[in-house]
Amino acid sequence: MSQSIAVIKGDGIGPEIMDATLRVLDALECGLNYEFIDAGLAALEKHGTLIPQESLDAIEKYGIALKGPLTTPIGKGFSSINVQLRRHFDLYANVRPAISFPGTRSRYSDIDMITVRENTEGAYLSDGQEMIDDGNTGISVIKVTRQGSERIVRYAFELAKNNGRKKVTAVHKANIIKTSSGLFLDVAREVAKEYPEIEFQEMIVDNACMQLVMNPHQFDVVVTTNLFGDILSDLCAGLVGGLGLAPGANIGEKAAIFEAVHGSAPDIAGQKIANPCALLLAAAQMLDHLGMNEKGDAIRHGIRAVLETRRDMVTPDMGGTGTTDTFAQALVEHLTA
Ligand code: NAD
Repeated sequence: MSQSIAVIKGDGIGPEIMDATLRVLDALECGLNYEFIDAGLAALEKHGTLIPQESLDAIEKYGIALKGPLTTPIGKGFSSINVQLRRHFDLYANVRPAISFPGTRSRYSDIDMITVRENTEGAYLSDGQEMIDDGNTGISVIKVTRQGSERIVRYAFELAKNNGRKKVTAVHKANIIKTSSGLFLDVAREVAKEYPEIEFQEMIVDNACMQLVMNPHQFDVVVTTNLFGDILSDLCAGLVGGLGLAPGANIGEKAAIFEAVHGSAPDIAGQKIANPCALLLAAAQMLDHLGMNEKGDAIRHGIRAVLETRRDMVTPDMGGTGTTDTFAQALVEHLTA
């Protein structure tokens, strides 16, 4: 049975890395049909809006979108498209694997962990921001709910269970932010009892930062609230060599959007030197989500093989002398050999 997905090529380097990614998905014969939809600058020029209703309808219809990076115009009153998509589809789980790959400049090897960040509440509320006292005092509300905490912690445990992972670490600041972070920790402890086969660890966020830098191999799945997750997931990307290899999924009950963590890189757009790895790894996450785990693994193993053996085909940011297209070509050759 074939599956249809919505595809947003994106702005800047988006179309280059998306073409490379689709070439690899086609070579793997994933049986996917693509409906190309507009968003970002391309949509603004064509439809006068950053996300046309037809694009939202297509994501809703298929439930799955693969998305290139989008440029949010600065200083024109536009709010981030990514935030809009997250809110529109209630994409509550931001799931970011951090995996070591060969040939990358990083402090550690053999890191294989996933951060699961609550994506809809916490400190990132649009209506919880206020300036008072003639602009001399800023107020930001942190809102954490039992329901929001329960669904994100449960998501993390289910992810661990279904992927043979052994441990979930809940990161919090319940010792100081006793209300919101305290509630998150209480709920995490309750949910953890339902998964006795998975080790549960709790860690205060400042210690978690130090532990991630000093001894990252102790982590497997990390679950946390919005602000801490935003910071920790970038820290984890740094541990494995930066954003060029960082994929992310935004997952809700009715839709899931898979993307590279990096932006549209306008400084190198059109030069065909953008590294397609992050979007390829996001596509691998999408295949896992669709139950095609073997094909997802094939992409991850293939990237590893290309980075190890085909330096001439790898993009310059990874120390190679190749292009976006030669990387895709080397990966396709590996997957179809
Ligand atoms: P960026 O991630 O686009 O670029 C930062 C640096 O990393 C640049 O030097 C760029 O050349 C390099 N880089 C990024 N991706 C690369 C790749 N695949 N291969 C090689 N080098 C790569 O961040 P920025 O410059 O701050 O943002 C540019 C635009 O992207 C902004 O409009 C921003 O709003 C948008 N953005 C979108 C997303 C998204 O859609 N998920 C995420 C972040 C930023």
